Amino acid sequence: MDPLCRVHLNWENFRSNLRLLRYISSDLMPVIKADAYGHGARRAAIELEKEGVGWAAAGTLEEAAAVRDAGYSGRIVILLSFLRDADDVELCLRSRLLPLVHRWEDLRVIHEAMDGRGGTLGIAFKVETGMNRLGFPLEEVDRAARFMADSGRMRPEVLISHLSVADDPREDAFTRLQCSVFWKSAAILRRYFPGMTCSLNNTAGLLRRESSRKEICRPGLALYGCNPLHGTSEEERGRGLLPVMSVTAPLISTHVLRRGESLGYGRTYIADSDRLIGWAAIGYADGYRRCEAPGRSMCLRGCRVPVIGRVAMQMTCLDLSSLPFSPSAGEDVHVLGGPGNAVTAQEMAHWWGTIPYEVTCALGRNPLAQDDPPATR
Ligand SMILES: *Cc1c(COP(=O)(O)O)cnc(C)c1O
Repeated sequence: MDPLCRVHLNWENFRSNLRLLRYISSDLMPVIKADAYGHGARRAAIELEKEGVGWAAAGTLEEAAAVRDAGYSGRIVILLSFLRDADDVELCLRSRLLPLVHRWEDLRVIHEAMDGRGGTLGIAFKVETGMNRLGFPLEEVDRAARFMADSGRMRPEVLISHLSVADDPREDAFTRLQCSVFWKSAAILRRYFPGMTCSLNNTAGLLRRESSRKEICRPGLALYGCNPLHGTSEEERGRGLLPVMSVTAPLISTHVLRRGESLGYGRTYIADSDRLIGWAAIGYADGYRRCEAPGRSMCLRGCRVPVIGRVAMQMTCLDLSSLPFSPSAGEDVHVLGGPGNAVTAQEMAHWWGTIPYEVTCALGRNPLAQDDPPATR
């Protein structure tokens, strides 16, 4: 099933965002999980390679291996690591991937898989600091460190934890608590593994310079041009980020809706005067949400046009009456991004009652436009 809408990616803007973040913190481990938030993990990794970024964080083991196959030569951490057996460990060794070890079972699987092989597997070690998602609690860090040191078959190259509320300045006390647990764990692990690096900050933590100590920050969102501090007192810190993704859909029908006529399912829109309407070929099957928030709009040649009526499975209706030109069927509408008064992922997230992360992940599953130049190394 090939929808008619298309995803366009501006990798120049991606590089610009990357450079902006590197200016704040030179050591980065860009997060390209979930297919780089819908933008394409392989291509994103090639851009990182070209920019000489030495670390990247992928989602699953398979995604991490694909990023390696795409030609990324730096270190790759597998954030969604779930080591099942020796085959998984073998893949980590072969593709030089650092699984995120977050439970005792991981340590046992690695210890057994490395039996008789010689050498050590580099890993990322996850400590629990307040997210209560993955990781060893502080009380178990020493025991886990001793296990790894005694085993000799694995070596933590980086200590990782994740901040839950770094994007909310009102929650700074909690963030400070997370930082404190993190650095305590780091001190314990470094007694056994002095060369180990640390990585704590996400985009928000990085923009707010949350941790003053030397570490490798893990920005995701900002790379794709969104500001996690939007709407907070510190929004300014994300200034200058440029959107990477835009999405278009062709107008497949335009016609006049007479006064008093309704349109679409549920007849939720009834024209109070003659209107010029158009149907764009994108709907909830393509990740364009059906929710009926006021203010939803798209962009035609840089001009806003309101979404009217109910979003259908593969079509959405627009009121084109206010345009200063007459649009024709076949013309592309910008659902997200584009020239002029573009719709931002932040704005769409607001309509949908969600966050920009979900917007790019959902819309990014659509096919790439042909006009995007192929990846070059
Ligand atoms: C997604 C993720 C990040 C990146 O977070 P952003 O808010 O997008 O910067 C960093 N670390 C971990 C563990 C993550 O899961």
